Amino acid sequence: MEFDLIEVIRARVNVTRSDVALGIGDDAALLDVPAGQQLVACTDTLVAGVHFPVGTVPEDIGWKALAVNLSDLAAMGAEPAWALLALTLPDADATFVERFAESFGEFARAHRVALAGGDTTQGPLAVTVTALGFVPHDLALTRSGARAGDAVFVTGTLGDAAGALKMLMEVRSAPAALLARLHRPEPRVAAGLALRGIANTCIDVSDGLLADLGHVCADSKIGAEIEADALPVSPALAASFDAETCRDLALAGGDDYELCFTAPSARETEIVEALARIGCGATRIGRIVAGSGLRLLGAGGNEIQIAHAGWEHFSR
Ligand code: ADP
Ligand code: MG
Repeated sequence: MEFDLIEVIRARVNVTRSDVALGIGDDAALLDVPAGQQLVACTDTLVAGVHFPVGTVPEDIGWKALAVNLSDLAAMGAEPAWALLALTLPDADATFVERFAESFGEFARAHRVALAGGDTTQGPLAVTVTALGFVPHDLALTRSGARAGDAVFVTGTLGDAAGALKMLMEVRSAPAALLARLHRPEPRVAAGLALRGIANTCIDVSDGLLADLGHVCADSKIGAEIEADALPVSPALAASFDAETCRDLALAGGDDYELCFTAPSARETEIVEALARIGCGATRIGRIVAGSGLRLLGAGGNEIQIAHAGWEHFSR
């Protein structure tokens, strides 16, 4: 579409990297992957009215479009390097694009991600970002490889983004700390790097802990037990909802972009210390067990039916 809009984007997302041999402007980008590393590639689309409410400010869309992709790279233990941006706009709204690109650029600079190209077309508002990064051969963190006896961990706190969304839907004003988790997620890139060679599986929590840990169990052909009382929730979430709602949000709420990972339980102290050094909390929330599927355990080890644990109200 409009050359002007591409220029608006290019000027605001001006991260330069020596490994971009040829960036925006030609038919395609030329990128130098470091020797000995594997290219890690992912893409995610945000559609207006589906992945963000119509009327979301352009700054939040720009930030989140890149953030959700860096979260996927983080979950692979990859170091982000480059992004491609396919923008579909209802009309050539320069102000929207400026505000979008300003925030996309701020986030890209913080993570040293160069925008290497993209596409700009007309249609219903949608943003597709492709993120590219690298990881040394054989060090990528995947969803398969969890073994019975491993501990299950999660970074940070769970349920904040879903808590904010719930309050918005109930027309309650949500605390800033929760709104920030919903609109400006901070993917756990540094934690993903720190977990290389330590975690034996890793996934980012984008659809909710039950769903995402469920993927790990399915791909690892194993089961897991989660201790309801161990789920980490933020002070802001705890101040906004009763304990049971907090638990349900932590289990089934999406959009937190924390990492859920497994590792031999003997490495717990090492893991918590390594993540603390980069300012990232980590909590052991359960264990990998023989069998399949997830079980939720209450105080004293009694099983809580997952169907009653918020799954239904929050699943999508
Ligand atoms: P083509 O017709 O070859 O696809 P485009 O006009 O779509 O050319 O793109 C021209 C250049 O601008 C290409 O290098 C492309 O990667 C880049 N580009 C287009 N849209 C975007 C965008 N939204 N973000 C970043 N780069 C873009
Ligand atoms: Mg094009």
